[in-house]
Amino acid sequence: MQHFFQQLSTFLESKYILIQDEDKAPYLTDWRKRFTGKALAVLLPSTSAEVASIVRLCAQHHVSIVPQGGHTGFCGGATPDNSGTQIILNLKRMNQIREIDIANQTITLEAGCILQNVQVKAAEQGFLFPLSLGAEGSCMIGGNLATNAGGTNVLRYGNTRDLCLGLEVVTATGEIWNGIKGLRKDNTGYDLRDLFIGSEGTLGIITAAVMKLYPLPISQWTTLVACENITSSIALLNLFQKRANSLLTGFEMMTQESLELNEKHFPHMANPLQGKPPFTILIELSDHESEAHVKQLLEMILEEAFESQLISDAVIASNLTQANAFWHMREHITLAQAEEGANLKHDITIPLSALDSFIQETDELLRDRFPGIRIINFGHLGDGNLHYNIAPPLGADPKTFNASNEKPIHELVYAQVERCNGSISAEHGVGQLKLDDLRAHKGDVAHELMKTLKRALDPQNILNPHKVVSI
Ligand SMILES: Cc1cc2nc3c(=O)[nH]c(=O)nc-3n(C[C@H](O)[C@H](O)[C@H](O)COP(=O)(O)OP(=O)(O)OC[C@H]3O[C@@H](n4cnc5c(N)ncnc54)[C@H](O)[C@@H]3O)c2cc1C
Repeated sequence: MQHFFQQLSTFLESKYILIQDEDKAPYLTDWRKRFTGKALAVLLPSTSAEVASIVRLCAQHHVSIVPQGGHTGFCGGATPDNSGTQIILNLKRMNQIREIDIANQTITLEAGCILQNVQVKAAEQGFLFPLSLGAEGSCMIGGNLATNAGGTNVLRYGNTRDLCLGLEVVTATGEIWNGIKGLRKDNTGYDLRDLFIGSEGTLGIITAAVMKLYPLPISQWTTLVACENITSSIALLNLFQKRANSLLTGFEMMTQESLELNEKHFPHMANPLQGKPPFTILIELSDHESEAHVKQLLEMILEEAFESQLISDAVIASNLTQANAFWHMREHITLAQAEEGANLKHDITIPLSALDSFIQETDELLRDRFPGIRIINFGHLGDGNLHYNIAPPLGADPKTFNASNEKPIHELVYAQVERCNGSISAEHGVGQLKLDDLRAHKGDVAHELMKTLKRALDPQNILNPHKVVSI
């Protein structure tokens, strides 16, 4: 490898080539601490040209590349394998905002921009950049695009794919594809942009993007409401969709069991609703007309929901601090799970019409077969996206429990997902975690088409091999 490093040092400064164990360590383990790998080196390029040179060099030496952003992904996609022969290509130094186009309502930015910084930059210009998720302080736009991240605003603004108009990508042969165009219409053949979005670093390395911006709402109102069951939660969603339509920007669900876990680890996050409701729903309305308009609308819909007995209690946030506290309560469930120890995650989508039967039947089947388990079920209900996670019984050692129960629990949950015509990965991707589950889920035809694409775009199989599909 001496020749490889010699050539590398001709275009990348040595301080951006990390080869010592202590320098590489922070890049080797994923956020959940579920996957740890080894790497030949961690490379930190700052331009698309440097990324392209690295890829060409790797292709020449048959070195495979693991692209990495904030390393907050839940499926081990950005973690290398154990061979110690892969390089990690971390994009964090590519963090420039190239342009904010006010008239076109777009922002052109590099892959290493941290999501929260983009939201702030957009707001400074009077715009909303609607992508929002719990990891926004550390995840990066390139990672968001590569995973087609969802988050809490999908209901109104769509997922990352829907927010992207153009991409710049370094291909597996080290060429730079310049697809940086802020066009809302462009039917010129195959959609290359959509091919790279959600490909988790297996087809190309995203170096920059043009993303949509939206006007900042004038007023937002947030409320927590209590529902007795999932049927009334969905009826409530439909009521809000009918009455508030595009003003509905958030509809998140938390079960009592998930809020109990939250309170155990973050006691200051107690649910303000009375009587420990089975389902707590967080609802957000955003308005471009006036504060009075949205407040009146919210109160009117809640009144109707009380009258129809869809909800039994409601607390409207009286100020921004309280609204933020409601959102923190929702976002902290993921952190509470991390505090609690290893758990079995299922990031799934179910058609809203089948959610009721999915939850009731799957809860029952799991509790019968694995007595004492805790079902930490919460998520973006407005999108039919559940984080249907399983924690071991209280007092059980998580590692021992998971070692013997992981497979049958996944099988049971995924069989239920298939029965309901759902998806085994709603927003977190496939990575290495769900590689083996993908074939059965997609079916042979789709799986073979995916492999055909991978072979065509990365014939040497150097881009994130054995993630998403193995060829
Ligand atoms: C507390 C918490 C809350 C979360 N909430 C949500 C949520 O609500 N919704 C959601 O969708 N996700 C959520 N996530 C998961 C995660 O934040 C997202 O998947 C995010 O999009 C990953 O971005 P990243 O920069 O950390 O990517 P990484 O983890 O570094 O990488 C993810 C994948 O993308 C590839 N990749 C990274 N950068 C590039 C690039 N420039 N070009 C090509 N491939 C690349 C990697 O190889 C890997 O396969 C959450 C995570 C945490 C820790």
